[in-house]
Order: sequence, then structure tokens, then C-alpha cells
Amino acid sequence: MAKHLTGIAASDGIALAKAYRLIEPDLSFETKTVDNVQEELDRLDKALAKSQVEIETIRDVALANLGPKEAQVFEAHLMVLNDPELVEQIQTTIKGKNTNAEAALKEVADMFIGLFESMTDNPYMQERAADIRDVTKRVLANLLGVNIPSPATIREEVIIVAKDLTPSDTAQLNRQYVKGFITDIGGRTSHSAIMARSLEIPAIVGTGTITEDVKQGDMLIIDGLDGNVFVNPSEDVIAEYHKKAEDFAQQKAEWEKLKHEETITKDGKHFELAANIGTPKDLKGVHANGAEAVGLYRTEFLYMDSAEFPTEDEQFEAYKAVLEGMNGKAVVVRTMDIGGDKELPYLELPHEMNPFLGYRAIRISLDRKDMFKTQLRALLRASVYGKLRIMFPMIATLQEFRSAKAILNSVKEELLAENIVVSEDIQVGIMIEIPAAAVLAHQFAKEVDFFSIGTNDLIQYTMAADRMNEQVSYLYQPYNPSILTLIKHVIDSAHAQGKWAGMCGEMAGDQLAVPLLVGLGLDEFSMSASSILKTRSLMKKLDTTDMKRLAEKAVNDCSTVDEVIALVEEVVNNL
Ligand code: PEP
Ligand code: MG
Repeated sequence: MAKHLTGIAASDGIALAKAYRLIEPDLSFETKTVDNVQEELDRLDKALAKSQVEIETIRDVALANLGPKEAQVFEAHLMVLNDPELVEQIQTTIKGKNTNAEAALKEVADMFIGLFESMTDNPYMQERAADIRDVTKRVLANLLGVNIPSPATIREEVIIVAKDLTPSDTAQLNRQYVKGFITDIGGRTSHSAIMARSLEIPAIVGTGTITEDVKQGDMLIIDGLDGNVFVNPSEDVIAEYHKKAEDFAQQKAEWEKLKHEETITKDGKHFELAANIGTPKDLKGVHANGAEAVGLYRTEFLYMDSAEFPTEDEQFEAYKAVLEGMNGKAVVVRTMDIGGDKELPYLELPHEMNPFLGYRAIRISLDRKDMFKTQLRALLRASVYGKLRIMFPMIATLQEFRSAKAILNSVKEELLAENIVVSEDIQVGIMIEIPAAAVLAHQFAKEVDFFSIGTNDLIQYTMAADRMNEQVSYLYQPYNPSILTLIKHVIDSAHAQGKWAGMCGEMAGDQLAVPLLVGLGLDEFSMSASSILKTRSLMKKLDTTDMKRLAEKAVNDCSTVDEVIALVEEVVNNL
């Protein structure tokens, strides 16, 4: 049946494809006494054989797409599946207890998992416990006749439907086949939305119910420009969206022409348009979209993509790759910002009631100095390969900045004592994403080299509205006069001390916000690479004197977000 739903438009573009549900299946079952033991033994055999074929397929795909290290995990799974001790014990349990295959499988697997997990000082056995858990899940699913989704094996064009996507889900998505995704939860600035923009695939988040509304294989249209989702659409809607997709492609081709141009306003003022990245792989998009710098390298993805802490050398290689890849253009590297919606299993963070207000980012770094120093050593070693700027996230107090800077200086001394060369020209700045730091920007500006305004967090903290919670997303108001007033104060404070102010929150690429930010004198705009060319195209039409007037009016005369929007729309519509 045709349905029309809406969500939050998280990544531009239009996609038409079949739904692929990336959802954990229900594996509940009842323990039963059976009359026909042989039947259970046969069912077990069949489920094992089917699992064998599935795991081999996933292994082959992982080997071809990801590499031998990633494929190794599935080799280990095959070993578990073919372990005679495990299989015989399940068979013996079925026969001895006259029980169904599901119950026998679970009983034996739980016994092995418990045994291996209790060997807490043996990481090898702990990993085997994780392997048994994964394999058991697959065999159980095959016994119950349900599917375990595996995005790595997708071989046709699909739109992923999920509750939310983890960074590792997103990393596995093959852009050749995955044309877009839709989630139940999240907002424009949740990490899955940010990843969609860096992959340049359309996405809609925060629909609330998409996993209930869509079946596997339903035909879907998603419009990442305005948040519309059509399930099993009519021929008319399909035709309409084919046309919309063509128009969008044409529009993109127009923007493409600006790829090698500088970002200059109508009256000849230059603004730096930079890109946000999560991994060195994102440099491709940075160059393809003509970015003038990297304004935010979110290093936490390096930690999140790994099963354990990345070593100093692994980090060094990643930072060097980005600095070299930018050929002398500035790269702002943010020290890791774990916490909030970005989890790191091996750090074993305690469960928190309010993770966005808790143990996060610089708070962890200042507490776990070993980890912080390793990152800073890697960064300073890489500094000679390009134009490095180091940025600390989630700074609330000057004391935090001073402590972080002191650690940075001590690491530098250590390296110099080891005769390791470090660049003499590294700017050190902070993210302004906590209202306390924004209000006190005039004091911070005396000590830092630059500010980068993190509006994703600054808005959630100023409005007290969780950026992940779609029920309060109406409070996510970049153009609220309160936010604009804070931004103005941050920019003016930086300029008063001869420093520069940038913005790396999503607002920097928001087409209604850009005229205001130009008017407020923001120096650097850093955004998803996919937003750069349309922003350059817009800026070419703006006159800075007019925008200054517009921004002053918005900050001084407007009292609601609607008034600001009306004011900006009037200007933008007449460009
Ligand atoms: C921000 O808060 O605006 C920001 C850029 O950081 P993140 O989205 O990674 O929290
Ligand atoms: Mg932030």
C-alpha cells in the first residue's frame, strides 16, 4: 500500500530503490520437549550448513572489499562452526534431554561463552567468546527461519531502513548499491547524518517509525532535500521524483563548475570554505568539492573504527596522510571527542543518564592523560608534513584550555628531547560549543589562536534540546536570535584580539544561515564537503555590506526565529 511519511532531511539528493531492512531480528524461542529427536538433529544439520554458506559469502565479500584483516574474523567464525566439540555437545544435548535444537544450541553456546569470558586475563579466549556469540546467533536465526541482515553482501540497489546506523554499519555500506538510508531516530547533526553527507548519499533521519512502516523489498523514494519518504509510490509520484532527481543532478553540475574557483563575494571579499572529515579517505570528497582547507578532522572515528586504541604510529600515519593530502592547505585536527552519541566499546565508559552532559571529549583526555599524550605525540610528529592546527573540543573553562595546552607543550618538549622535529608554526584553538565558553569568548580570545564554533552542540546546550531527540528537534534553531547573539560575541571577541573565528557545526553550510554568518564576519566556514559548492555559489551573490546590515537587524531587532527566517528569506529570494 502506498504511504507518505516525513522525517528530517539529513543529506541532499533523491533516491529510488527497494528497502533493505538493517534490523536485528527477533530470535526468541520456546524450549520444548520433542518426540522426534532425529528431526531436531536434521534441523540442526541444515541450519549449520546454511550458516556455513552464509559466512563463506560474507568472508569472500569482506576479503574483496575490505581486506584480509577484516576477512579473518569470518575465518574464525567458520572455525567455531566446524568445531566438533561444540557441535557434538549440541547433538548430545538434543538426544540426552529430548529437547529442541534451538534450546540445545543456546545451552551449549552459553556454557562455552561463560567459560571463555571468565578467562579475563586472556584476550584470545575473550575474542573466541565473541565469535561463538556471533555464530550462535546466525545458526539460531537459520533454525528459526529468520534473516540476519549483512550489509556487506548487498548486491542490488537498495535504500537501507534502520533504527539508527552505527559508524561501523556506515563504513560497510557500498555506495554502488546503497542509494540512501532512512532511520527511526536521530537529528541533522547525529553522527549517522554526518556520515551520510560525507558519503554523499541522500538520507532521512528521525522518522520515528520507519522500521515499523516498511517491509523488506518495499519500493521507496526518499527526498533528502526536504525529508519526504514515499513507500510503494504510485506511477505519478515516481515520475515526479525522476524529474526532481534530474533537476537536482543538473543543479549539481552547475555547482561543479565552481570547483576550482576561490570563494569571493559579489563585492570581492574572500571567505575560506573548508571541509569536515572523519577519515583520510574523505579527502577524495574534499578535493572533488574544491575545499580550501580542512576545518574539522574528527579524529574520534579513528578510535571508533578500531577494536582497540590506535597506536601512536597508526595515528601518525592517518594525520600525516591528511596533512600531506592537503598540499600545504590548513588542516584543523580536533583531538578526540568520544562520548555523547559516539561510543567506544573498549574504553568501557560507564553508562550515564545524560551522556551529552557527561564524560566526553576534553574531559576524558584530561583525565586519561596517557591516551591524550599518545594522540598529541602523533599529531606533533605529523606536523612537519603540512599546515597543522590543533583544536580542543568541549572546552568549558579557561582552566581546561590551559591544562590541555600545558600537556601539548610538555609533549613537544619530550619530542624535541628525542630529537624529533616538530613544526614551529602550529596554531592551537578551541571549539566553542558550550555556552559558558561562548559567553566568555572575550577572555578565551586572549589565549587561543582561533575559535571554531561547534553549533551542533552549542545549539543543543543553549536551547537545552538533545540533538539526537527528534521530539525536541523543533528547538534546534540555528537562527534563533539567542544563538546569533552568542555567535556574534564569539566572532567579535576573536577579532578584537586579532584572531580568526570559524564554524564547523552544520550551520556553516546551512543556506539560510550563510548570509547571516557572512554579515557577522565569520572568517572560515567548514562543512560537509557536499555542501561546499552550493555555498560558494550562494556567496558569490552576496554583498558583505548588505549582509552586515541584515545580520545587525537579525541580532538587534528580531525576537523570534520566525522573524529572522522571514528577514533572511526576503533577502535570499531577491538575490
Ligand atoms: C559541533 O558540535 O558543532 C561539532 C562540529 O562537533 P560534533 O558534531 O562532532 O559534536
Ligand atoms: Mg561538538
